[in-house]
Formats: sequence, C-alpha cells, structure tokens
Amino acid sequence: MKMFRIFLFFSASVLILAGCGKKKKTDNAEESVWRMNSCFTKTGILYKKSDINGKIKYYDYETKEYLTLCAKANCRHDSSECMAVYLYQNIDFMGKLGDKWYYHVMKTDEDEGAFYSCDLDGGNEKKIGSFSHGNGYAIGTVNLFYGDVCVLETEDDHFDDATGEWTGTASGIYRYHFDTGEAEVLCEEKEYMRPAYSVFGKYKNKLIYTEWDGEKNLLRQMDLDTREITSPLGNVNIVTGSVQGDTLLCSAMEDEKYELVIADLETGDQENIWTKGIASDFFWDEELKLFMIYGEESVVTEDGYTRQIFELYQYMEDGTCRLMRTGDTAKCFIPYVRVEDQLIGRDSKKGELARIKAEDFIQGSGNWEILNE
Ligand SMILES: [Zn+2]
Repeated sequence: MKMFRIFLFFSASVLILAGCGKKKKTDNAEESVWRMNSCFTKTGILYKKSDINGKIKYYDYETKEYLTLCAKANCRHDSSECMAVYLYQNIDFMGKLGDKWYYHVMKTDEDEGAFYSCDLDGGNEKKIGSFSHGNGYAIGTVNLFYGDVCVLETEDDHFDDATGEWTGTASGIYRYHFDTGEAEVLCEEKEYMRPAYSVFGKYKNKLIYTEWDGEKNLLRQMDLDTREITSPLGNVNIVTGSVQGDTLLCSAMEDEKYELVIADLETGDQENIWTKGIASDFFWDEELKLFMIYGEESVVTEDGYTRQIFELYQYMEDGTCRLMRTGDTAKCFIPYVRVEDQLIGRDSKKGELARIKAEDFIQGSGNWEILNE
C-alpha cells in the first residue's frame, strides 16, 4: 500500500512537471528579435551588409560561417534577381521562427506592404498576407518574433490632402499572426507629432513598452494573454529603455535630471541611479553590465566628421557606476550579444556589426573585426 502511494505521488509530479514545462516553452518561445537593422536569434545573427550590392547576410555562431541569404546555384549576388539583394532593398524587418524566416516587404507607392516567409537558405518564398503599415523606428523599439507571431510598433506618416504637408505620425502596436494572417491590434493607433509607442521587449508573457500620453512617455506592461495593462514605473517620463533577460533598463527624466532605472522583472525590485545624461545602448548580462551616455560635447575627428563624445559606464556589484572609458564615437564599440568568449556589437564609426573578445573589450582594445570583411 505504501509503495502504491509513493508511486502515485511520483506519477502525479511527473505529470505536473511535464505540463509546466510545456506551457513555459510556449510562453517563452521568443525566438528572435529585430533591433538596430539586425535579427538576433539563438544560433546567429542576420544583418544588412552595406557594400556595393547590399545583401542580407547571416553569421552562424557555432560554425563561424557567413551565409548569403540566396538559394540560387552559381548566383553572383549582384542584382535584385538575387534573394539576398532583393531582401536588402525591399524589407524593413525580418525574424526567424523555427525553420523559416519571416519578413515584411515595405509599403511603397507601388506596393501595399505584406508579410512573406522563406526557408533558412532564402529559397521557397511564400506570401502570408498584406500588412499595410510602416515599421516603427521609435528610440529603443524592437520587433519580437515568438510562437507564430510578430509583435511590432508601427509608424505611418499622414499628409494633408490639399497641401501635401506632413501632419503627424500614426503609431500603434500590432500582433501579426503568421498562421492566420490576422493583424491583431494590441494598442490602438494614435496620431501625434512623434511615435506614440516604443516596444522595449517581452518578459515571459508580459510585453514591455512605452506609451506617449500627450505629456509623458509612460512605461506599460501588458499581459499578452489577458491584455491587462499596468504601469510598473508609475508617472515617470521614460526616454528610452531595453529588456535584457529578466532586467528592465530605462533612462528616465525627472525635473530636467536624468536617472537610470534598473528593475528586476521577476521580483519587481527597482533601483534608481542619477546619470549625467540619457543612458542608452545597454548591455546587461551576469558578468558585464554596461550603458552608454552620449554627451553634449563633440570633436572634429581626423576624417573631418564632427562626432559626439561618449562615456561608457559599468554598473558595479555595490550599486555604483564606474566610468570605463570615454572618447569620440569613431572609437566606440557597442556590444549587443555575448557568444562564448566574444562580444558581437556595432562599430559606431562605420555603423557595421563587429566582434571582439570580451576580455579585449574590457581592457579597452580597439581591435574589433567587422563581420565578413
Ligand atoms: Zn544570390
């Protein structure tokens, strides 16, 4: 009898565990994020490579190989007949779900704009459905791909019929369903002189974004199942922010002063630190917690450009921020992701993706390598 009870208890736990595991996977299946003109996936990074014939390229973290997104045999990748060149010229964002790429062909005067999918090598293109909105370019905004959806902020410029003058920008947040082609409205469109929303990311089933209420940019959190909305940071005016793992980082403004808000999305714990200016370009993992401040000062660099002075700060265990280095933005590497011992990020002089060993970056080396050059 005792054996039997133990056995029952054991089977019940297995069932519960199996159930939880499955649910969690569905909720957290955030497979890729489009940010800063690149798509970050768990296995690599897809990016727009701007050379003579701009192309869509993919860098595989494991094999360290570069793939041109074109399935055509013997293609020279030098005309818009090539998928990699065509995508470079016509899409505004792209993401990976399972074994497919999903992308949005831009709305133009000739094209209403639509979602498509293709295989991972760029072959087998299929139209999913029309989506007649411009992509959002609000500061800090990202496009999220998970499950079989894409969540994005949209922006559409409006013009006066008679004069042709720009009158404002309509902005909303949509959840596009790739299985049905349905464009579900998560946040109703609003028209202002600036985008009303910015999507910072997702934590579990909570969407983290800002909404312009006419006076302030307020941080919102939406339960993606029930659509219930809360304002976890209250009435604070948010300038920009980012979700990095279970941490929310926001640059906020209070009485003409700037602060960095570091919030734990699991526990709700919050820390506020005064900063010299707007904190942006966050990189936050277990070992390295960084943010950038672009100052008001600038210098004319050797190549004749006027460039801003940046200050790179490291957040320390004791809650202080240490100035790691400063310089003009031609000498600045901004990390996005850590892959083994390397950091992949942006070379701010050329605006291209680059990689550097994490320890070299910490020591201040300027020897990063531009991806595929
Ligand atoms: Zn090609």
